[in-house]
Amino acid sequence: MHEMSITMSLLDTIRAEMEKAALKELRSVRIRVGELTAVEPEALRFCFEASIKGTPFEGAALEIEEAPLRGRCKDCGNVFRIIKFERTCPGCGCSSVEMAGGNELDIVSMEGV
Ligand SMILES: [Zn+2]
Repeated sequence: MHEMSITMSLLDTIRAEMEKAALKELRSVRIRVGELTAVEPEALRFCFEASIKGTPFEGAALEIEEAPLRGRCKDCGNVFRIIKFERTCPGCGCSSVEMAGGNELDIVSMEGV
């Protein structure tokens, strides 16, 4: 399952960050998930909760921010939301557009003791 492998790499990152910050227990973690990753937030939450049972992370809350797919117009610099892969700048109407977000999978913040 897509979300399970994402959860595993997420937990690896969290573990490394906690070591760096000398945290023993995780209270909550907030992540940002781009639209292009095709992650189902509810499926991710389910995998996360199943994976942390019996670990030092048990009971930690997972907060998920969804980041929409965005494009940036190379001509006028307009940043806009891309819907249904329509890559035309609503500002100037050109189609010279590059991706400006939507494939991120980042840890925004975490809290622990
Ligand atoms: Zn434009």
